[in-house]
Amino acid sequence: MAQVYERVALIGLGLIASSMVHGMREQGLAGEVVGTARSADTRDTAREIGLCDRIVDTAAEAVKDADLVVLCVPVGAMGAVAEEIAPYLKKGVTVSDVGSTKRAVIEAVSPHMPEHATFIPAHPLAGTEQSGPRSGFAALFHNRWCLMTPEGDVDAGALEKLKELWQGLGSNIEFMEPDHHDLVLAVTSHAPHLIAYTMVGVADDLRRVTDSEVVKFSAAGFRDFTRIAASDPTMWRDVFLSNKEATLEILGRFTEELFALQRAIRTGNGDHLFDYFTRTRAIRRGIIEAGQDTDAPDFGRGGSKG
Ligand code: NAP
Repeated sequence: MAQVYERVALIGLGLIASSMVHGMREQGLAGEVVGTARSADTRDTAREIGLCDRIVDTAAEAVKDADLVVLCVPVGAMGAVAEEIAPYLKKGVTVSDVGSTKRAVIEAVSPHMPEHATFIPAHPLAGTEQSGPRSGFAALFHNRWCLMTPEGDVDAGALEKLKELWQGLGSNIEFMEPDHHDLVLAVTSHAPHLIAYTMVGVADDLRRVTDSEVVKFSAAGFRDFTRIAASDPTMWRDVFLSNKEATLEILGRFTEELFALQRAIRTGNGDHLFDYFTRTRAIRRGIIEAGQDTDAPDFGRGGSKG
């Protein structure tokens, strides 16, 4: 694949950034990739594993002469990073991000962007419960969506190039209005994570009662919850704090449905349970047909990442 950018700067070197590096390398999408992270530990690890072409100590240094800057830090840190890099951005640069929520990131980053920079918020819908510079792999974005949420008049050339980069990484692109993005993700990702965290917390309380039986006999359903609940605490704290309204709206609806199911169990209303589970089974089939998961019995994991 052809080179899209001469120099790309990645701020933050976790799962998403390191996967981008591997993908860009594999596909030859960038002339040079410069990276930086907050802690010396992470920068040292990145140097040790040869993650980027160059690892520098500060974000200001990283963005110097970059054609594309991607903010790959937790959502709550985006504003401070944007403020730090703003004076050092070159004319004509594209600044993007990979944050899991979009309205809060736009509000935090936009005020710091100089006239000569184009800000295009984006969110690759791909991840694992792993984090840090060693966790990345090129295939993470293959056949996954990358949602772009630019607002107002955005330079068409800049938009086209960023699209090309994500397509080169294997993603499918869709444009979305930021608030709509946040609502959709509250349903598909944020609320399910909170439910997984809660279920694992409840089981942990129970474990004290049943002497580790919960873990010993943990069935696939619960193991999936524990996998999700092992996700990075900083990232997920920031996701909920920055997508408050949409998450609360979905959790409100979830609680109502849960009460209805609880009532059906109490009153022995098998028809209600059967109809409900029939409907949800059809949703699962739709996801498989859309190519967003596999119907292998173990979710196709079989020791592979993700
Ligand atoms: P990660 O593996 O936890 O790495 C986060 C990186 O951000 C680290 O390099 C960390 O530096 C740096 N960082 C943390 N706090 C910071 C702060 N206050 N100031 C500056 N840098 C800071 O994270 P990730 O999973 O790649 O996630 C990065 C972004 O992608 C987040 O916004 C997340 O919402 C989004 N995202 C994640 C997923 C997913 O499933 N993981 C999927 C899609 C989008 P140190 O290592 O030096 O602490």
